[in-house]
Amino acid sequence: MTNQHSDIAERIDGRAVAQKLRDNLAKAVGKMQAVHGITPALAVVLVGADPASEVYVRMKGKQTKEIGMISIEHKLPADTPEQDVLDLVEKLNQDKNVHGILVQFPVSEHISQQKIIELISPDKDVDGLHPINAGKLASGVEGLVSCTPLGCVMLAKQTLGDLTGLNAVVVGRSNLVGKPVAQLLLKENATVTICHSRSREIEKICAGADLLVVAVGRADMVKGSWVKKGACVIDVGMNRVAQEGKKDKLTGDVDADEVQLVAGSLTPVPGGVGPMTIACLLHNTLQACCAQNGIKMVEV
Ligand code: NAP
Repeated sequence: MTNQHSDIAERIDGRAVAQKLRDNLAKAVGKMQAVHGITPALAVVLVGADPASEVYVRMKGKQTKEIGMISIEHKLPADTPEQDVLDLVEKLNQDKNVHGILVQFPVSEHISQQKIIELISPDKDVDGLHPINAGKLASGVEGLVSCTPLGCVMLAKQTLGDLTGLNAVVVGRSNLVGKPVAQLLLKENATVTICHSRSREIEKICAGADLLVVAVGRADMVKGSWVKKGACVIDVGMNRVAQEGKKDKLTGDVDADEVQLVAGSLTPVPGGVGPMTIACLLHNTLQACCAQNGIKMVEV
């Protein structure tokens, strides 16, 4: 549903949608414990002490416990040899009491991110980055889907309802966000166009979108003139912009001041896509736990 009665775009409240999702997940976890005697467990591995990563890992641990799941944290020093990290992942793969594994990226340069992605068991790959899960998504087969894209599409559906036949434009083609968002939108029967750094006339392509998802990593790139009147705009960008004499400002890839005067709805940064990412991680952990125990995943 777009906001046609106001000059300012509807603010898509990702915090509220994420809270509702977590409440539903908490109920499902309670039921799983009562009926099956199983508590879903998520293991998070942090290598090094990057302050932003530490904050994410802390938030993930807190929210995992809040909905009644088990949170297991492995914090390793930045200089941990690659093989030790891989051995830990393999140990977690073998541990029947661990249902989901997430290694917080980026890891130190001497450790191959790709080796980790490919070593995590696809059944426990709650980040949805393993090529098997990416392939399942591309083939329309049920699997674990990357958390941020899942959150984007949940917000779009919450705002617009059925996405069938809509013109959806995704700006960005990373394996983490752009590609899986596009695949999910295709699954929802949208007509999907993907733009990237080599695309020509990107403004014109964006201006044809009923649904515009932007995942680029360039502060305020998408201007008001790029957006169709009444469109739904999902801003995935999280850019820290330095401000003189003040704390860094967190800003999206969309110039919100301009775009909110044209769009029908817009996710704020912060408070839009960000909160959905952790909620979807918990969703995936429950999904993984259900699949590993032959239990039907509840609709949440
Ligand atoms: P990424 O891996 O750096 O990919 C960026 C994509 O943007 C690439 O496909 C690149 O195209 C494209 N691009 C770069 N400059 C462009 C331009 N001028 N015009 C059109 N396309 C351009 O980034 P990412 O991991 O997808 O993340 C994107 C943003 O989302 C970042 O700000 C990140 O912090 C944020 N993010 C937020 C969350 C969340 O929870 N809210 C989660 C993940 C990421 P090429 O492929 O041609 O280089």
